[in-house]
Formats: sequence, C-alpha cells, structure tokens
Amino acid sequence: MTHDFYARVRQTLEDIDAQGLTKPERVIDSRQGPVIQVGGRDVLNFCANNYLGLAGDERVTQAGIAAQDRWGAGTASVRFICGTLGIHKQLERAIADYLGFEDTILFAAAFDANGGIFEPLFTDEDAIVSDSLNHASIIDGVRLCKAKRYRFANSDMDDLETQLKQARADGARTIIIATDGAFSMDGYIAKLKDIRALADKYDALIMVDDCHATGFLGPKGRGSYAHCGVGVDFVTGTFGKALGGAMGGFICAKSEVVALLKQRARPYLFSNALSPAVCGSSMEAIRIAGGAEGDQLRDQLFANARRYRAAMTEAGFDLLPGEHPIIPVMLGDAKLAQDMAARMLELGVYVIGFSFPVVPRGQARIRTQMSAAHTFDQIDQTVDAFKTAGKELGVIAS
Ligand SMILES: *Cc1c(COP(=O)(O)O)cnc(C)c1O
Repeated sequence: MTHDFYARVRQTLEDIDAQGLTKPERVIDSRQGPVIQVGGRDVLNFCANNYLGLAGDERVTQAGIAAQDRWGAGTASVRFICGTLGIHKQLERAIADYLGFEDTILFAAAFDANGGIFEPLFTDEDAIVSDSLNHASIIDGVRLCKAKRYRFANSDMDDLETQLKQARADGARTIIIATDGAFSMDGYIAKLKDIRALADKYDALIMVDDCHATGFLGPKGRGSYAHCGVGVDFVTGTFGKALGGAMGGFICAKSEVVALLKQRARPYLFSNALSPAVCGSSMEAIRIAGGAEGDQLRDQLFANARRYRAAMTEAGFDLLPGEHPIIPVMLGDAKLAQDMAARMLELGVYVIGFSFPVVPRGQARIRTQMSAAHTFDQIDQTVDAFKTAGKELGVIAS
C-alpha cells in the first residue's frame, strides 16, 4: 500500500533524527571562500575542499562566464551524439598534460568516474583489491563490476600482500589495487611507494582516486602518486575540490584505456556532457595550479596547515597526525562534536562535526580543512575560537 510506503519513509527520517544523525543543509549567502556569509553574518570557513582558494576566485569565475558566452549553456547531448565541443577536447588535454598521462575521459562527477571505471575493464576472471576506507563511489563502482573482490585493512601493507597472494592463488587474470590517494576523514595519504612495490611483486595495476590530492599534493600539485614519487595506471579525480570547485570528474590513463572507456563506461555513454562553464572554470584552475602561482598557493596552504597543527597541539587538542590540509580534531563523542561545531559557529567559525556512520563509532571529530586563501590571522582566530569552545565544553583544560 502506498500509504504504508510514505509512513515508512517518515519513520526512517524520525529514526535518523532520533540518533542525532540528520545532516541539515546550512544556506550560504556568498561565494565560496575563506570568509562566507551565513545567517546574515560573516564567518570564517574551515570546512571546504577549497584547498587552493580557487573556488570563488575572480579569474576562475570569469573563465566560466567566458566559456558559457562562447559555447552556450550546454550540449543537450551526450558526448558521442552531438555533445563534444572544442572546449571538452581542450579540458581533456589540459588535465592529461597536467597530471602526466596520455589521455583523459570526462564525467559529470568523480562519483561517476569511479562508478564507470571498473565494469568495462575487468570481468569475473579478474580481481579488485580495495582499501577498506575507500570512498563510497569506489565501493559502488566495484559492486557494479563482476571481478572478484578483495579488501585490505586501511593502509595495512601486510594485509594488502595477503589479499594479493590470495587473488593470485584464486587464479586472477589481472589484479587491480584500488585506493584513495588521500583518505578524506583522516587526512592520511596512501602508502603508494609500498603499494607500488607490492603491485610490482604481484603484477598488479594501481588505480588511485586523487580527489583530495589533485592540485596540491606533490610537485606541481600532481597528486598523491607524485608526492610518493611513483607511477600508477589510472587516476580518477574531480574538478569539484582544489581545481576550482565547480564540479565534474575525470579518469587519466593510457590512451587505449581511455578509448575503451569512451565506448563502454555507462556514466559516460548515458549522461550529458560537462557544461561549458564548468570546463572553462576548470581549465583556468588547472592553469593556475600548474604554474608558478600554484607553487606559491601550495607553499601557503602547507604553511597554514603547519601553523594550525602546531597551535592546536600546543592548546591541548587531539589531532590525527600528518601533513595533509585535512586536519581532524578528535572529540570521540558524537554529541560533543555537534555541540562544539555549534559553539564554533557562534564564535564566528564554520566547521562541521562528523560522527557515525561517516566515521567509526566513538571517533567523532570536527574535520577542519586548510586553504591557501586563509591568512595566518584567520588561522589564529580559529585556534582562539577552538580554545574558547574547548575550555567551555571541557575538551581542553581551562
Ligand atoms: C569528493 C570525492 C569524490 C566525489 O567527487 P565528485 O566529483 O564530487 O563526485 C570521489 N572520491 C573521493 C575520494 C572524494 O573525496
């Protein structure tokens, strides 16, 4: 009965709410940036994936407007019918050259890139060995593929080797190791040097999802694999984070792989081409990230991360270790994380508490993220607000 269906939907919503897991959407009244307008006042923003500060950047914005002016709102077509514009070819070339790959295929989102990469390339004769903390879109992409699945504990190289041995013992034709380049909840960078060595030992391919790395990790911001100084077979990434923050995803790989994906990847074949505005903004972001200004932005980003880490540690907060601009402030209790985030907003800093099921039970946290657009002054103000809130809520000694 349809009546029962709607009652069940309402009951599920109530259950989510009763567990304190409802995620409200707070409305922002300005462009994305280090300072945003929320509820009629300016607050510091420390929870965007705006690592290089290019979301809201005037040049990136204007490049999108110019592209829309030249090419219109969009193609009203998938790529292979009448949806391939000159600007799509330019963007494909720009991202492939930037990341050092032969070719690129574009998607509406990195979620679609991860959803489309496995199924056309691997069959039930093959094996996918996946990190247990991989992004939801990799997990979904693996589910859509008939290859045998193996999972290794997050960044546990002994377990990875165990799974690779098992896959070989099970007679896998081709093995692919799939991992996030940087894990979004912890800011941990994948151990790609060790993964590379194991991939060589067991003759496996490597696929890296670099959504939280492209544009800022490694030399010229080429990503986690460049940071670790190794090569990989496939990189999936997004234009929705450091590279301008608009939207859109891609896979960089050897040209024959891209050619096959263009024939077979379902989110590519059955979904509209990227809008010209998105292409224009993304290309300008790649230009900035790949140039001398990109080096300055990355220097500022990591200087900000070091300053914030040092001051927060000194203040007595429990941070997860690392060098990534994702810096989780560990609080443990879900309610405490919510209360802390609410108090921070009152104090003029917008941050978000993360709790189960996004992170394990008892490991609730406020995930702070640094941007090159933050000034030292803004970092210090945020640390001061954390100190005030932390003392009030008994997180640090007063
Ligand atoms: C953000 C993210 C995605 C999704 O990217 P979209 O382009 O927004 O779909 C995929 N994988 C990882 C690791 C991410 O952090």
